[in-house]
Amino acid sequence: MYGLGLLKGLGVSLKRFWMPKITQKYPEVQPDLPQRSKGSFKYDKDTCTSCELCSMACPNGVIKVEWHKDESGKKRLDRYRMNLGHCLFCGLCVEACPTTPKSIDFKTDFALGCWRKEDIYRIWTKSYPAAEAVAPVMAPAATGSPAAAGSAGGASGSTGVASGAPEGGN
Ligand code: SF4
Ligand code: SF4
Repeated sequence: MYGLGLLKGLGVSLKRFWMPKITQKYPEVQPDLPQRSKGSFKYDKDTCTSCELCSMACPNGVIKVEWHKDESGKKRLDRYRMNLGHCLFCGLCVEACPTTPKSIDFKTDFALGCWRKEDIYRIWTKSYPAAEAVAPVMAPAATGSPAAAGSAGGASGSTGVASGAPEGGN
């Protein structure tokens, strides 16, 4: 019948008109999102083992893990960097992280807009007591981590990008 669709539509509008409103005045009112929403990232540099599984799992080269080895041969984190401009929010990095709880995980904060290009990056650095940071034993190239030769070590001195990919990913 001609006009039946129109009447159906009006019926839905009338029904919705009397129902409780579910729209929110964002950003004044922040949405109460489910805990598993994929917003930005939270990272725990104290539980991260610098294993680089997250970096290897990432299809877009978003994650760079920089590390050095201490005297006992243990990996020590220097810097963890994410270029969110290239992130797909696929969650493969979170899935790959072996720690419990996850050292890298999503958080519900989804407001990622920024004015400056450099604010797209998320960077966490870790520093150590001076005695340890002075002469770190750099990782050998054979491990797959081209830790920067000649680096002074420590959080700010190391330029060894573990994945070896140029800045900006693949
Ligand atoms: S969520 Fe982003 S950083 Fe993690 S694997 Fe996917 S593209 Fe890479
Ligand atoms: S997979 Fe987890 S523990 Fe390994 S480097 Fe990434 S965040 Fe750290």
